[in-house]
Amino acid sequence: MSADPTIPADGMEGLAATITEGYQTLRQVTCLEDVYDIMDYLMDEVKDKYSNIRCKVDCAMCCKGLHPPYVTAVEWELILYYLNEFPQIIKDEIMRRARYYAVEYRDALILQQQMIEGKIPPEEIRTTYVTLSQSLKNASCPFLVMDKCGIYPVRPAKCRAMGNSLVQINDQVKVHTCAWEISNFEEYMRERHTRALTMPVWNLFEKVVEIINPKDSMKAVLPIWLITHMGINGLAEEIDPKPKIMI
Ligand code: SF4
Repeated sequence: MSADPTIPADGMEGLAATITEGYQTLRQVTCLEDVYDIMDYLMDEVKDKYSNIRCKVDCAMCCKGLHPPYVTAVEWELILYYLNEFPQIIKDEIMRRARYYAVEYRDALILQQQMIEGKIPPEEIRTTYVTLSQSLKNASCPFLVMDKCGIYPVRPAKCRAMGNSLVQINDQVKVHTCAWEISNFEEYMRERHTRALTMPVWNLFEKVVEIINPKDSMKAVLPIWLITHMGINGLAEEIDPKPKIMI
């Protein structure tokens, strides 16, 4: 997509103004819940304007395959507190799913973690993505239950942004969504004879979430956070922001 995300698409001037206002509010936030509130508000506004977005109808495509998403320590902390409110039987089931994921997708998890930590040389990133998509093609997020998110109120920032935002990768801007929806957007832009889209840019939220995290804390995919917070006595009650990864 070559369109400049700062120039509003035709008919999207109102949405562009709302997004700018959202960005300004984002500068003042100090806690994750406030970031989530702004994100949810903006994502709802985007969904209202783009009737072509299909993920608003109980879609779980972005929870399968090369997901679950990478998550920062403050996001995991909120999820962990939420999980600890569940009855023991549910916590046991979550831990069973995490163990299954770790056994089934061990190599992919290690590779994914190396990607997140920037240990893959730039020239190998593309092939690593291909390897990961292949290895994780049958995987789904351990929190996905009957195509619904089991931690919806505290789902990570990346999940909130999926489908309703743009992502900037080097000098390229793309819709931040699954492959299925990308082709849907291509058709939408073809029909309108323009590649201009007005949506918030995920990278900005990513930066703000990083700023409110403790320095040097870990970033990892959800199964890694889960595995590193499981012990013989069950799920930990407090977060370890930089746990030792042993899978
Ligand atoms: S946390 Fe929820 S929304 Fe995010 S990938 Fe997992 S099931 Fe999907």
